[in-house]
Amino acid sequence: MTIEKNIPLKAFTTFHIGGAAEYFVRVHSIDEVREAIEFAKKENLAITILGGGSNVLIDDAGIRGLVIKIELSGIALEGDTLTVGAGESWDAVVACAVSNDLSGIENLSGIPGTVGGAVVQNIGAYGQALSQTLLWAEVYDTSTLEKQTFSNSDLQSGYRDSIFKRTPNRYVVLRAALGLSRIPKPDVSYKDLAARFSDATPTLEEVRAAVLEIRSAKFPDLDVEGTAGSFFKNPILSLRDAKVLQEMYPELPLFPLPESSGVKIPLGWFLDYRHGVIDMRAVRVGGARMYEKQFLVIVAERNSSSNDVKELARIVQNKIFEVTKIKIEPEVAYM
Ligand code: NAP
Repeated sequence: MTIEKNIPLKAFTTFHIGGAAEYFVRVHSIDEVREAIEFAKKENLAITILGGGSNVLIDDAGIRGLVIKIELSGIALEGDTLTVGAGESWDAVVACAVSNDLSGIENLSGIPGTVGGAVVQNIGAYGQALSQTLLWAEVYDTSTLEKQTFSNSDLQSGYRDSIFKRTPNRYVVLRAALGLSRIPKPDVSYKDLAARFSDATPTLEEVRAAVLEIRSAKFPDLDVEGTAGSFFKNPILSLRDAKVLQEMYPELPLFPLPESSGVKIPLGWFLDYRHGVIDMRAVRVGGARMYEKQFLVIVAERNSSSNDVKELARIVQNKIFEVTKIKIEPEVAYM
């Protein structure tokens, strides 16, 4: 394990933005995680944990302290349980599940980033969320310096949320286990999937192929432009507030959450110029703009600054507030 100094971080993020890490280390095992944390404690350095860099916006000023890049690998299948290292690519895990006829995460195909990031963020797409199959996550606690296992209920997962999201950089996710099913239960209720499979029940392979195709048509080419996917969380309102909003905008779809009494508001609807509420097509801040094929996504041309993206995000937050009085939050983590 080598601890390096002054390492540029932009190439480790999908936004391709950000300055350098004061100290930087790649870790491949729990022993290396422990060693890195001990080094940070000894030198009195702040710790920042980086996975696939797919949901972060790193400041151009860089990150002080030690950036720990999680590269713990391993995918093991036992019965219907997949146990995976936190540094594995999430999509490689989905591919492995689908090729073994295991159902439960096929709708989460094509999401960039690592397993660790997926757990922290409780990733979700097309009606599936990781928390529906996650059995446990093993972590290293940087304050007690001990290994610990969180069960599914310990994780307090919510919409793009978990206990780890609320305690940034305290827990380093090491491994996670997913309980999958041999009985295929395809969920194609989201409109893009429903439109493809209206008259037949698809196989897991077919769902995965469809999700990959739909996503790639709506996502920018990361070799050309940067992005961290959906930039904002869809807000959750009470049924009463959601109905008030729908009276103002009768075409607005509402999605009641099965797990709570809240109602999810599809923010992208307001940002879709075709609905005549907000039109972001002409708005540019430096190299940053809202993506024309996916209205919740910010894209950044190469050489954009972190401030370009933050300023654009502020403009969107203000416009949404003007129209709905809702204070929206970024889904992307600022570092
Ligand atoms: P869409 O089908 O056009 O729907 C727009 C929004 O409405 C989505 O954000 C989705 O919320 C919600 N929605 C649609 N159908 C729903 C249903 N049957 N039940 C509950 N909620 C419903 O969505 P899209 O923008 O093309 O995205 C498709 C999926 O990919 C979504 O699940 C989205 O979250 C996911 N995605 C994720 C990222 C990311 O960076 N994490 C980026 C783009 C898209 P949810 O977002 O809560 O599902």
